[in-house]
Amino acid sequence: MPTDPSKPVLPKCVDARKLVQREQCLDGILPLDSLERLSSAVESVDGAISAELRFGRDLQGHLTVRGKVTGTVELLCQRCLYPVREQLEAPFCWGIVWSEAQGKSLPKDLDPVIQGGDALNLHQILEDEILLNLPIVAYHQEECVSKRRFHFGESGAEAGGQQENPFKVLEQLKGSSGKS
Ligand SMILES: [Zn+2]
Repeated sequence: MPTDPSKPVLPKCVDARKLVQREQCLDGILPLDSLERLSSAVESVDGAISAELRFGRDLQGHLTVRGKVTGTVELLCQRCLYPVREQLEAPFCWGIVWSEAQGKSLPKDLDPVIQGGDALNLHQILEDEILLNLPIVAYHQEECVSKRRFHFGESGAEAGGQQENPFKVLEQLKGSSGKS
């Protein structure tokens, strides 16, 4: 998916309290060089990671930011160890607070985000959200292993969607080297 050129790059740092006062909405993309942790956690980042944010207040007057981060990444399929594409959508609902202690008094539907001074590192927090929403393991939807492994003559006993230890799969692949 190509980067959507109509979307601006989101500012790296914002003053969330000011944006709440203005009831600002932001819709933009995260630059890849702000996504080092994500890049090292996945095989590749496919196109742009984009985010929508709405700053405002809830009925109790808490400062809130609601929105979502979306994007597509490639992970390693834990059955066949080939890349599998995963669409990610990470909705969030933040409550902007000054301190950890203040965060503890927020209602449960708000995730505390601490902005102690004038600026909040937006890129970092949005990356956190997408990292939290990465699947722990990824699999192809189709039967990738029966195509790639079972024709080596192994039994089909492990088929049927059972989760396997990735290292075991790796060993089996190594054991079958020279046949591909
Ligand atoms: Zn697979």
